[in-house]
Formats: sequence, structure tokens, C-alpha cells
Amino acid sequence: MQKLLSGLLLWLATGAAVAATGLSPQAMRTLSTGNPNVLIAKVRAALDAGVYANDSSGEREALWWMGHAGISASDDAAVTEAMARLKSLGSVGHDSLAESYAGFLSADLRIAHGDGGGVADALQAAALQLDSPDPARRALAKFQLCDAYNMTSQFRRSQRLCRGAGQAFAELHDEWNQAQALNDEGNNALGLGDYAAAGQFYEQARALYRKVGDHSQAVMVGDNLAQVYLKQGKPRQALALSRASLTDERAAGREADALVSQYDIARALQALGKHEDATELIASTVDEARESRLDGQLPDLLREQSRLAERNGDLKLALSAQREAFRIARRYWSSSLHSQQAELAARYAAREKEIRIEELERNDQVSALKLQTAEAEAARNAMQVRRQRTTLGATVVAAFGLLIGLVSLLLLLRSQRRHGRELRRQALEDPLTGVDNRRGFFRRARVLLAGGDPDKPPLHALLLFDFDHFKRINDRCGHPFGDLVLNVSLQRLREVVGKRGHLARLGGEEFIVLCPRIGGTLASQLAEELRDAIIATEFPDAPADLAVTISIGVALFDGNRCHDVGSWLRTADGAMYAAKTRGRDQIVVAQAVNELLAQADPGPQPTH
Ligand code: GH3
Ligand code: MG
Ligand code: MG
Repeated sequence: MQKLLSGLLLWLATGAAVAATGLSPQAMRTLSTGNPNVLIAKVRAALDAGVYANDSSGEREALWWMGHAGISASDDAAVTEAMARLKSLGSVGHDSLAESYAGFLSADLRIAHGDGGGVADALQAAALQLDSPDPARRALAKFQLCDAYNMTSQFRRSQRLCRGAGQAFAELHDEWNQAQALNDEGNNALGLGDYAAAGQFYEQARALYRKVGDHSQAVMVGDNLAQVYLKQGKPRQALALSRASLTDERAAGREADALVSQYDIARALQALGKHEDATELIASTVDEARESRLDGQLPDLLREQSRLAERNGDLKLALSAQREAFRIARRYWSSSLHSQQAELAARYAAREKEIRIEELERNDQVSALKLQTAEAEAARNAMQVRRQRTTLGATVVAAFGLLIGLVSLLLLLRSQRRHGRELRRQALEDPLTGVDNRRGFFRRARVLLAGGDPDKPPLHALLLFDFDHFKRINDRCGHPFGDLVLNVSLQRLREVVGKRGHLARLGGEEFIVLCPRIGGTLASQLAEELRDAIIATEFPDAPADLAVTISIGVALFDGNRCHDVGSWLRTADGAMYAAKTRGRDQIVVAQAVNELLAQADPGPQPTH
């Protein structure tokens, strides 16, 4: 059994190493701008394969670069996922760098969406590192703050920080980061109208990026240099640089950056007197932005189109472009933030749930494997005992020795049986709360349904519940406190349920009670008791105004709509979802779902 287990571990470790290949910090850093979508996919695959199960600092770095890649590729879901995972690494592992990374990403994301309040996130995140004994962390904090101020056009504030970060990275001989800081110093000078200085900083940054072999970043700085050339009245140089950037951005799939380059090219063409080419390019760029729904970029592009049209005497186009720019800008800033955040939160929650269930399932599989091995070993020993029993009478001389052997084998067998029972318990039980796990629930529910009388629909009930706004509890009081709430609640609910049913954890903070032959009235009554018990439960060291509640969906097994465990569970889930839609902290019985949802206004309707 030892061999089998160590073989399994070796297999897992080798798999992990292979999956992690190509994800060195430098490779991730380069990919995060050079080919962001590839990096996001690689990190996700590595996380899903459990590559970082025992390597939280590796996981932290991978998530940091995945977040950067998300920002470059305008993939907000990836940034949000990286952020949420970093936050949880930060609170669970007391890892302040992970917490800061999450804050810096949040700042970048908010600022990219035009929310200047993102600077506050950067300030908080930097505060965790500014007194760190590690100079690299202090330099990073300065750099991120300088970047956040620059991106929100607070150039006077950023100036000192950018310079400090640049010097610190130079002392650390970290040339790539020094290039980052120099580029930001360039942005700073450009913002303050000092074009000559900006040009110099950009040149230095570009030379350093080339030296360390980061082509994409060198091209990105070239883009910035093009802005300086345009300001300095050198459109020919600007045009050459923007064209080089465009090729690079298209190859890397960075659509938003590519549109900015096209916009720069159009401006350079205009400055060179090529009005027709400029007009045509702006028109096609506007079309592309519309098609790709890059609403954040459209207003600037449309304003440029309007300016060009006005100069060319096409007043009708000038006016309509201006109007569209105004309309999009207004719609974009007001509605997109809220709806995007809600959508992202929902997408992330769904993905996290998936990941957690996969994790539980993986643990279950390992436990099941251990159990099988232990059972096989116990069976082999039992066979040996039987064999020895039959030969016991064969020789009197050997009897004594055999007796001793038999006794020790019997003792071994007993301890293995005990071990087997323990493993079986682990395979079917949730370690945090001690109730059945998902596998345990399915096993119990299948056995229950298999024993039913086909002519008489039994009155078995499922009570599925999920904690309300649990994320807020975690965010406010920390993940370990969230764990404690789950643990204490489930101990209490276990007492309340008693012999009426079996509690199980389906995943995350979603649980279920399987109640054989209970009937509708008693099931509803039990649901009320559960809801009341949670409200009355007190949690050690909880804030005075903390409210913990649950939403419950009840479904009776009718042998019709609910004809197996899957359909039964879905019905209960639909009812629970309806309880959430109706405002949480309440109970919905499956038959009543449609009626209740029809009264609730507005809200999505589950299909029943
Ligand atoms: P609602 O269900 O009311 O819609 O809101 P919610 O905030 O509870 O949303 P959802 O159920 O989607 O999110 C569940 C959260 O619970 C997300 C996850 O971080 C947290 N969670 C899941 N499992 C655990 C756990 O074992 N321990 C802790 N502390 N948190 C967990
Ligand atoms: Mg919840
Ligand atoms: Mg949940």
C-alpha cells in the first residue's frame, strides 16, 4: 500500500512539473504582455491541475502575471479571478505580498475602467509593503503607486515615486523593472509637457527592454515615443514607430492597443498632410472598435473622426460622430461599471464553485483509492488467516508457532479493519464540518431511492440550503472566521436535525439535509427550525451587527418530476434559488416556486 501511495504521489509530482514547464517568472512576465491570452490559459490549466497545491509563492507569482495579462488583453474576468485568488491566498496564508498584488490589480482594473478611485486601492496595497525589510518589495510598492498616479494623470504626485522606484530597481540590478520605472518617468514628463525629457526617458527604457530581450515591451515604449514625436512635430518618426507597434499588437491579439496605434497612425498621417488616408483609417478603426465592442475606446476615436471630418468640410459626419461619442461615453461610464462588476462577480463565483467542487472531488478520489488499497490488503490477510486456520490441526509441533502467528495476524487484521473504517469515514465525510460530503450524500440518496416502493411515491424530502452573502462575511472578517461560522453552524444544525435526516456538504457553503419518509408538513417545519437555529446561533468574537442567515429550498421526491437523485437535487436547487431571488433568509417549497416567482418582481425565472 505504501508503494502504491508513493507511486501515486510521484505520478502527481511529475505531472505537476510537466504542467508547470514554461512558467518561470521571466517567461510569465514576457508572456503577460507578449501573448497575454496564452499566459492566462496556461496559468488556469496549472491551477486546475493542482500544480501549486504545495507552492503558494509559485501560485502568488503566477496569479500576479495572470492578472497583468488580463489587463493587457482587456480580459476582466481573468483579472477578477486572479485578484480573488490572491486575496484568499493573502488571508488564508497571511501573505501580505499576495494581498498587495490583489490591491494593485484592483487599482489597475478600476483605473482601466475610468474609475479614479482605484488609486485608493493602490495606496492601501502599497502601504503593506513600504516598510518591508525587503528592498525589492519597497521598490515595487513605489513603482505601483507611481503608475497608478500616472494613469490617473496626477503627474505631480507620481514624479517623485517614479524616480525613487527607478533608482531602487537600478540598485537592485533589476533591469526589466528599471525599464518599467523609466517608461513611467517618461509618461510623467509627457504629462507635464516636458517632451525632451520624456523622449530621453523613453529612449533609456527602450534600450533596457531590448537589453533584457523583452521585444513587446520595447515596442510598447516605442508607441510612447511616437506620442512624443507627434508633439514635437516629427510625424515621420512617429509613423514608423506606430506602424511597428501595430504589427506587434495584432500578432499578440492585443486589440485595444492595436486600435490606439491605428489612432496614432491616423494622427501622424494627418500631420503629414495625407488627409484622405487619415480619414479612411479613422473610419475603419471606428468600425473595428464598434465590432469588437470596445466602448472604452470609441469616444476618443469618434472625436478624432469628427475633428478630421470638420477639417475636410464634412460637417454632417462631424456632427454625427460627435453625437455618437457623447452618447457612448455617457452610457459607458454610467451603466457599464455596475453591470460589469455584477457579471464578473457572478462569473467568478460560478468558477470558484466549480473549482471547489473539483477540489473536494479530487480529495474524495484520493481517499477512495486509499480505502480500496486498505480493503484489498485486509482481504488478503483475512484469506491468509483462513488458510492458516485449515492447516492448524496438521501438526502439533508447529501448533504453538502457528498459534502465535495466528494471534498476531488476527490483531493485525483488527487494526486494519479499524484503519479501513477510518478511511471509509474520510472518503465520505467533509473534513471542515464533519457532515457527509458530496459523495456521501449521493451514496445515501441512491440507496434510499433504490429501496422505494414503485407504486407508492414515498415522502422523502431534500432541504437544500446556502448561506446568504457569505462572501461578505469572508471579506469582512477573514476566511478563517468564515470557516468557523460554517463549523459552528453545522454542529448546531446537526443537533436540530437529529434523527430526522442526514446533513451533507455539497460544496462551498451549500449544504443539504436528506430526510427519509418525512412528508411535506414536517419537512417545512424542519426547514423553519433550521432557519431559526442559524439566526439564534452565536459565533465567538463575531462583530455585534453580524447577521448570519440561510436560504432553503425544499423538494419532495414525487417519483415523477423528481425521478432520480439528479432531478430531485435540481428541483431543490431551483427552490433554493427562488428563495435567494425573493430576498434570502427564507424557505421555498419546490411546488410553490413558480407561483412565488410570479409574485416576485422582477428577477429571472427558473425553469420548472
Ligand atoms: P448568496 O449565496 O447569498 O447569493 O451570496 P454569497 O456571497 O454567499 O455568494 P456565493 O454563495 O456565490 O459565494 C459563496 C462564497 O463562500 C464564496 C466563497 O469564497 C465562500 N466559501 C465557500 N466555501 C468556503 C469555505 O469553506 N470557507 C470559507 N471561509 N468560505 C467559503
Ligand atoms: Mg451563498
Ligand atoms: Mg454558494
